[in-house]
Amino acid sequence: MQPVSRTVLIVGGGIAGLSAAYGLAESATARDSPIQCTLVEAEPRLGGKILTEQVGGFVIEGGPDSFLSQKPGGVELCRRLGLADRVIGTNRDRRKTYVYSKGRLEELPEGWALGVPTKLGPFLKSGLLSWRGKLRLGAELLIPRRSARGDESLGAFFRRRLGEEALERIIEPLMTGIYAGDADSLSIQATFPRFPEMERQAGSIVRALLGSWRRRGQISNLSPPSGGSPFVTLQGGLSEMVQALTARLGRLSVLAGYRVRAVRVSGPPRGYEVVIEGAAPLATDALVLAVPACDAASLIEPLDAELGALLRGIPYASTATISLGFPRKDFSHHLDGYGFVVPRIEGRALLAVTWTSSKWSHRAPDEAVLLRAYVGGAGRETVLERDDDGLVGLVRAELRDMMGVTEAPVLAKVYRWPRAMPQYLVGHLERLAAIDERLVRWPGLFLTGAGYRGVGIPDCIGDGLATAERVRAYFDKGVSRAV
Ligand SMILES: Cc1cc2nc3c(=O)[nH]c(=O)nc-3n(C[C@H](O)[C@H](O)[C@H](O)COP(=O)(O)OP(=O)(O)OC[C@H]3O[C@@H](n4cnc5c(N)ncnc54)[C@H](O)[C@@H]3O)c2cc1C
Repeated sequence: MQPVSRTVLIVGGGIAGLSAAYGLAESATARDSPIQCTLVEAEPRLGGKILTEQVGGFVIEGGPDSFLSQKPGGVELCRRLGLADRVIGTNRDRRKTYVYSKGRLEELPEGWALGVPTKLGPFLKSGLLSWRGKLRLGAELLIPRRSARGDESLGAFFRRRLGEEALERIIEPLMTGIYAGDADSLSIQATFPRFPEMERQAGSIVRALLGSWRRRGQISNLSPPSGGSPFVTLQGGLSEMVQALTARLGRLSVLAGYRVRAVRVSGPPRGYEVVIEGAAPLATDALVLAVPACDAASLIEPLDAELGALLRGIPYASTATISLGFPRKDFSHHLDGYGFVVPRIEGRALLAVTWTSSKWSHRAPDEAVLLRAYVGGAGRETVLERDDDGLVGLVRAELRDMMGVTEAPVLAKVYRWPRAMPQYLVGHLERLAAIDERLVRWPGLFLTGAGYRGVGIPDCIGDGLATAERVRAYFDKGVSRAV
């Protein structure tokens, strides 16, 4: 007997949607069980936030520039895609990171693990914190565990444990930069759950990290496997991953450049009907929304106002990256590191600057250097009202002040990311539980992507692949819809 063919429609061709499609294609091949999969993407290109451009010998990342190697999703997918040889780590000879502090670039002391010192000597010598700030940080060992249960903000957690100065000067720029967020709004449980876990288990995060470091010679759960680079990318940029994924999608049909405008419940035997701008509606057994939660909210609200409101409650911050290329000869800064972060308290426009050509190989021609500035983020979005020339001018002025760079760039590229970074606010995990509970009413409807269980590329890949498994399990149970 011929196996029954099921249809899946994936909306969104970012890394989460592509990973879901890849997972479905792989399982269809492995089990010789056909699934007709269609992916609809609003933009003419696939990849979503992943966007690499090659211009005049420069490899420019408009969105993400790397991913964590310690989380298995990214590196493992590269291996499965035959890209293992293309994965590169950061340049080991330039491992310094700086923090812009009170008018100068201060080196982040050696041995810091995501904002917490694990080596005493370099920490004590560092000028980043005053003696008072250092003593307060050391007193963390004596601060009792929090008795209250439940979530708290990242700011409240670190202020309580390590003090205001450590939070403002180091932790905020290092940790909230990843989310382009505000420390006093982001949930510690949804962003860095390991830290409250350390508090619960060891009574102190400094003790937990120092102990782990002493025992193993490294911070086991914060360091990459085999002591490699914590961040990796691909030689030709992250779009290599998108291209390789796209090439492996089997018989999947892709509609790129088509925006999904509405979702309706359709009569049996199909579950949903999707209204696509400029194309005929498509009926499908299963529907995967791999779009930002705010876009999912727009599609879901007419079907289920409560679910729509839960999704709408995940806010998004807007950002932009500005890449500038300069001639290497006589460049006014030695670029002896990966770049610097800027604490919000400094009141500057820049969130961070990556010295891209120092951090990675293969990013600029030999005779040039490449820098990338990051602006915007929660509560700092007015800067994005400037036009591209205005943003380039602003970044140049900031680089002049902060790094002494006076040269004119030979290349300037601006990438804008409106409503791009999901903000996992305090209570995010409860919101996810409520979303899951509500989704039970919509069999065959699945949500994946950065808005939910991790913004980083490995998390989005993991969530996309897990969604493919959930779709498969739904089909295995037999499609039934009780509305
Ligand atoms: C500037 C920047 C820097 C970052 N840096 C890093 C980094 O260095 N490392 C890291 O790990 N992560 C980084 N991130 C985060 C990471 O890139 C993203 O979280 C991740 O790529 C999101 O993937 P996604 O598939 O969930 O969503 P997206 O990439 O947003 O994909 C969703 C897709 O859905 C499409 N879509 C939306 N609505 C519709 C519709 N109605 N119809 C059809 N299609 C629709 C969109 O066009 C988009 O292509 C960064 C993000 C940004 C913005």
